[in-house]
Amino acid sequence: MIQKSDMTILKIAECNAGKDGKVLTVDIAAGKALAIAVATGRRQILPLGEAHGRVVCEQVNAASSVPPFDNSAMDGFAVSSQSFRGTGPWQLTITDRIVAGENPNRDIAPGEAARIMTGAPMPEGTDTVIMQEHCIRQENSIIVSQKPVCGRHVRLAGEDVAKGNMLLKRGTHLNSAKLALLAAAGIGRVDVFGKVCVGLMSTGSELLEPGEQMVPGKIYNSNRYYLLSRLNHPWIEIIDYGIVSDDADAIRKLVRKAAAECDILISTGGVSVGEEDHMLDVLAKENAELEVLKVAMRPGKPVTVGKLGKTLYFGLPGNPYAAAVTFEKIAWQAILAAGGSAAKAFEPIHAISGFDLNRKPGRTEYVPVTWSETDQYGRPIVRRLGRGSSASLLPLAEARGLATLSPDHAAISKGDLLQVECIEQ
Ligand code: AMP
Ligand code: MG
Repeated sequence: MIQKSDMTILKIAECNAGKDGKVLTVDIAAGKALAIAVATGRRQILPLGEAHGRVVCEQVNAASSVPPFDNSAMDGFAVSSQSFRGTGPWQLTITDRIVAGENPNRDIAPGEAARIMTGAPMPEGTDTVIMQEHCIRQENSIIVSQKPVCGRHVRLAGEDVAKGNMLLKRGTHLNSAKLALLAAAGIGRVDVFGKVCVGLMSTGSELLEPGEQMVPGKIYNSNRYYLLSRLNHPWIEIIDYGIVSDDADAIRKLVRKAAAECDILISTGGVSVGEEDHMLDVLAKENAELEVLKVAMRPGKPVTVGKLGKTLYFGLPGNPYAAAVTFEKIAWQAILAAGGSAAKAFEPIHAISGFDLNRKPGRTEYVPVTWSETDQYGRPIVRRLGRGSSASLLPLAEARGLATLSPDHAAISKGDLLQVECIEQ
């Protein structure tokens, strides 16, 4: 996780720059959001079966070794490697039979063998398992013609995990493998952070819900569905406040309610300075402390980040591509931090530009890209999708990734190295 103390990028002179409407870089704006994100102090102890996707709030150590005892990795015969002196073949007497879940009945001496099944404990005196396919079974003995390698087909106690070892760090998301690992190490319940409560609000008198009858002048609300889907994580609880029209009183009432109910509030639309953009007035009346008003990015210049009391607030632009990109680049890392997560919001890969583009420098630009070929180093050669309209969703929906064009890059040429963040397909 980016530590707040590590945020040397936040140069003192620029720290308050957002309040008076100065345009901030994406990094500074995202850093400011992260700096005011507070992890919920709430904790829960959950049985493993209910903990999928939740965030661990304490380091977890193994309660038991994995495997807990030396055991056979094969169906075969447990023997002592001391039995194989001189030249073979060797005949060993079968003196015991051990199945998984049972304990050996007796010790095994050199010259003896125990019939053993996969997962059964190795008897005292043995160190090697001979696969049943590698010996000839006679009534009460086996004939072994090839000397076995000492230790073969034995899983030693603790060889996967030793008791007391660290399994998971604080801030880890519990996925299937991690939950299985905890189970294997004898941990039945896990301490996790309480869910982060995120409120969603779609502002705009022109908005209709998909499925409703189209009316002239209206458009369907798409931001709501981008955000509902993106926030659909087991560690997040969403309160969906739906659509609110461009009416300052209605917005104010709902903002006040949401600020009382949510850890984080995200609204879309109405954050510019148009006559029907009421969000900034409402925020001022509600005594919000704003850190970010404008960001040098394309799409998405007007983005509001601040605090409404204890609630972290993101005012994203209304245009759908801009809402999506500002969510990813400004809000998501802070939301992760609020959930106690140590995950990085993005881990870009190197890609090669397959397009030429002349652009006005000054803003960080995010370009939806796709690819079907790679260069000799395996780097994707990316094609640009769409024409960069902040209202267009189709290019983003077709994209395999989002390329970042840095603010000082006026011309992108074929063959240039680009940073691309992959989009979940
Ligand atoms: P605004 O940021 O409110 O000025 O809105 C900018 C543009 O985005 C306008 O064309 C709006 O109609 C559109 N828009 C606002 N909210 C949404 C939404 N939830 N879904 C789709 N488009 C939206
Ligand atoms: Mg609007």
